[in-house]
Amino acid sequence: MPVSLLGAAEIRRLAADLDVTPTKKLGQNFVVDANTVRKIVQAARVSASDRVVEIGPGLGSLTLAILEAGASVVAVEIDHRLAARLPETTAAHGVAEDRLTVIDADALQVRELPGEPEVLVANLPYNVSVPVLLHFLETFPFLRRGVVMVQAEVGERLAAPPGSKVYGAPSVKAAWYGPWRLAGTVSRQVFWPVPNVDSVLVGFERDAVPRGDEELRRRTFAIVDAAFQQRRKMLRQALAGVLGGSAAAASEALERAGVDPTSRGEQLSIDDFVRIAAL
Ligand code: SAM
Repeated sequence: MPVSLLGAAEIRRLAADLDVTPTKKLGQNFVVDANTVRKIVQAARVSASDRVVEIGPGLGSLTLAILEAGASVVAVEIDHRLAARLPETTAAHGVAEDRLTVIDADALQVRELPGEPEVLVANLPYNVSVPVLLHFLETFPFLRRGVVMVQAEVGERLAAPPGSKVYGAPSVKAAWYGPWRLAGTVSRQVFWPVPNVDSVLVGFERDAVPRGDEELRRRTFAIVDAAFQQRRKMLRQALAGVLGGSAAAASEALERAGVDPTSRGEQLSIDDFVRIAAL
């Protein structure tokens, strides 16, 4: 039996049935357009042999599109009513039971994923999109690539190169794991309820060889946080606290790392930050 997708009317019916009124707190804007969920699955290049993890499956629109492509899905959903209903919905749409595993939990707290899925596909809850992405990349090294839908400003920030206006701590931390790219825009009209922000797709590929171990990652992220907490200040001042306790000590360390002490965090690439942290 081929897998069928959810239509707008069925999504509203399901929500009414479950007594779910979408909440802002949980970033609940459900996609009610089949073309959009197929577009996300195509952008993520999901194929039949893939094991996919989805964060926030909601009523199942995107989940069914991933399953339609033949992949298996582990879905992490915080809303108990939605998590409990998902297997029934996918079964009614032609999906064999063993292709979906639902984890009823806060994605920020999840520390294990069955089957070690290598692809992340999600329409992320907007209020926690960056912490959830960083938590997943840090905790699950088997995740190789992914495409997620996020608020436009967040997607632009994640994919921003050094020197651009929106380049910030999330851009550098995301780049620790590998390259990011903008992968398309999404109209507000495909959501129910219609959000008051624009959305984009953003994709990543994890580097084949990690930049360093957990200790180096932690040190790098601490330096990134210090640099961007005072982003208008020169690095020798912004990093004084984390590099030796004074501007002079920070200057010396930055010079040893080949970084101009009078530059600012927004000019530095992930490679520069890693060189500073590795000293
Ligand atoms: N994937 C569905 C779609 O595209 O229609 C729903 C996407 S909606 C933007 C975000 C979903 O994430 C909601 O189902 C919400 O309940 C869930 N969610 C919110 N915070 C979460 C968290 N911390 N962990 C897991 N799921 C979460």
